[in-house]
Amino acid sequence: MLHPDFSRATAIAENLSRAELRISQACRTSGRGNGGNGGNCGNGGYADPVTLIVVTKTYPESDVEILHGLGVRNVGENRDQEARAKASLSPEGMIWHMIGQIQRNKINSIVAWADFVHTCDRMELVTPLSRAALNHSKELGVFIQVNLDPAAPANRGGVQPSEMLPLAAQIAAAPGLTLMGLMAVAPHPSTAIAAAGAFERLAGLSSALVAEYPHATYLSAGMSDDLEEAIAHGATHVRLGSAILGERPVVE
Ligand SMILES: *Cc1c(COP(=O)(O)O)cnc(C)c1O
Repeated sequence: MLHPDFSRATAIAENLSRAELRISQACRTSGRGNGGNGGNCGNGGYADPVTLIVVTKTYPESDVEILHGLGVRNVGENRDQEARAKASLSPEGMIWHMIGQIQRNKINSIVAWADFVHTCDRMELVTPLSRAALNHSKELGVFIQVNLDPAAPANRGGVQPSEMLPLAAQIAAAPGLTLMGLMAVAPHPSTAIAAAGAFERLAGLSSALVAEYPHATYLSAGMSDDLEEAIAHGATHVRLGSAILGERPVVE
């Protein structure tokens, strides 16, 4: 019988190569550069490769080690406590992305482990994020989360599109923070058509942001069910959980 860790590693490796194939096919279909896991934070623009962030929330630190062994460096988490514990045990060189809602009183703890936050969605977070970045002597990459669904309950997170530029101005002016671009979650991840419409709107908002902040070209969009639509609309960072690690129990 195979060692259980061996079969887990095999399953993750298979899922990972399937996901990388989807990403590179989506890049090719939409006439963009190479996809795959080699993406980096290069010079911006839609010709950039897509960075795959593997969302490890609810999964154990041993999965992070397996992913590291498979060459994955970017991982995403949505809860401070869980992420902080995992990050403290995991191999050097992982890049940690905070993709969950940010509570102000957790910011100093979040910035201790996170290299990027994707979910800055209100002014009151900017000064604490900046202070925490300086405190931890790091330059924190910040994405503005925009709400693409006006009908969504407020607790889904995301700034209203009309508030995007004022928030961007605050982030761009804050020491220790680098404004990366935008992040969004499609309103109805199960419906490809709804996702495509939302991502089209996101692409328009991204253009408006880049017109003011030429370096803020990154777009964090696309999950396991809608990465193709997101890449077709310019996503530079896709956040994949279940496609790689399996379905999570529904606790979120
Ligand atoms: C959980 C989560 C993901 C990953 O979702 P999957 O459907 O499992 O790929 C991506 N983005 C955010 C913000 C999440 O909370």
